[in-house]
Formats: sequence, structure tokens, C-alpha cells
Amino acid sequence: MPEGPEIAREADRIRAAIGGESVERVRFAFPELKRRSAIFTDSRVEAVTPRGKAMLVSFDNGLTIYSHNQLYGKWFIRNAGRLPKTGRQLRLAIETKEKWALLYSASEIEVLDEVSLSHQPYLEKLGPDALAPSTTLESVLERLETKRFMRRGLGSLLLDQAFVAGLGNYLRSEICFEARLHPDQRPFDLTSADRRRLARAILTMTRRSYETGGVTLPASRAARLRTQGASWAKARHWVFAREGAACRRCDENIQRFDLAGRRIYVCRSCQPNRRAAN
Ligand SMILES: [Zn+2]
Repeated sequence: MPEGPEIAREADRIRAAIGGESVERVRFAFPELKRRSAIFTDSRVEAVTPRGKAMLVSFDNGLTIYSHNQLYGKWFIRNAGRLPKTGRQLRLAIETKEKWALLYSASEIEVLDEVSLSHQPYLEKLGPDALAPSTTLESVLERLETKRFMRRGLGSLLLDQAFVAGLGNYLRSEICFEARLHPDQRPFDLTSADRRRLARAILTMTRRSYETGGVTLPASRAARLRTQGASWAKARHWVFAREGAACRRCDENIQRFDLAGRRIYVCRSCQPNRRAAN
């Protein structure tokens, strides 16, 4: 499933294609939405906003199209009149004079006004977005220290969109490694310096991945690996998807295990499980 950085880059692409443009037609596949198509004709696309793993396309008629891709949804941008070659089902088309923004396979699409937008169940539950400029190190730190999140294991906490929105599975591994913390530890077990390092890693890893298109290694390090012949995929992460490979800091083998139903990767030497040792 794409994580916050991927959704944000997708929003950038959609915005670049149809942002500010006048809508010629909106098409919905779901019968319950079809009758609402006409109210979008001649409206203008005001904003394209990623929220956690959802996408909001807002129009100057006061309505917002909410979509959540779940596992399968995919946006395509095409010149007007062109459709991608795909076996997927078209679920939503936002058509402007020059460009079409096409959403395939997504199962969750809603048309919301201002009131229903503020009560949308998924959006209502979201914590602050890791990519939003208003989300600061101090605000993440404060959240880590609340009763609600303090005693949650990092492995599950970092996947919880109600804690910080936009994190996901590869970011979870990368954040724990960057902060040199084992995912079984809880904010409660950490020193305040540890918690500050964790808050910083949450923002750094997510924002770097957004800027680089999915690379969580520092740019200089990734570039050096590429000049040594590493593929993009092999010069991407500290630990994620690197089971058995040497840790980039200490040479220890990276290990993989399952946590909260998803795979996670750690270096046991850089990320000792202090909780287990206590
Ligand atoms: Zn290591």
C-alpha cells in the first residue's frame, strides 16, 4: 500500500494536471454517485490535498471528492480523450480541457460537502500529517508523551494513522532504525532524548522519502551506492527489505520478523531491544 510520501507525490501530479482548471465532466462508476456528476460540470478544481492515505479533490462548487485507494486503487493522468491500457475498472474520471485525472480500482469514493467532510470517519480519526508543515518536532514529541500513545509498542504505534498520519510499513522500519530503537520498545520505556530522536526520525524519514520519491537513505549515501553500481532499489533504505544484508552502520546482518501482521526489519546491534533486557 502506498504510504504518505507516495500519496503526496500523486497529489502533486494530479494538481499539476488539473489544479485550477475548469471541469468539463466528472464521471463516476458507482451508481449512487452517478446522479451527482452534473453538479461538477463547469466547476473549477480548487485544491488537491493528500490526507494520510486518502486524496481530496476540492471544487469551487463547495464539494470535495474523497477517495481512498486501499490496496488496489491507482490514479492515471492522461491527455484529454486518452485512456491508459489497463485491465482495471475505471471508477472516477475528472476531465478538463487538456488533461484527464482517472482513478481506477478504488473502492472508496465519496462526494462530500463541507459538513460531511468534517465528519468523514477515516479523516476524523487521522492524527497530524507527517508531511504537513504545521506538524513540528515538538508536536510529535508531545503526542508520543500522551497517555493514549505512551504504552504502545513502536511497531504498532507507527502504523496507527491516528498517531501520525502518512506513516506505513517501510517508513516504520526506517524510522526505528534511524532513531536506533527496537520496535518492541514503547515511548514509555524511552528516555526523553530517545523520544526526541524518534520524533525527529518520524519527520525526517517521511519528508525525505517525499522529496526523493521513496529513498530514505541520506542523498549523499544513496548517490555513493549508485556510483558503486547499486540499483535504485538497493540504494534506497537503511534496513527495509534488506534481510540478511549487512547493516550500513555496523555490518551486522539485518533481520526480518513479523510485527502487527506486517514485515519489519531491524539491526539488532544498532537497535538493541532494551525492553527485553530489563
Ligand atoms: Zn547495525
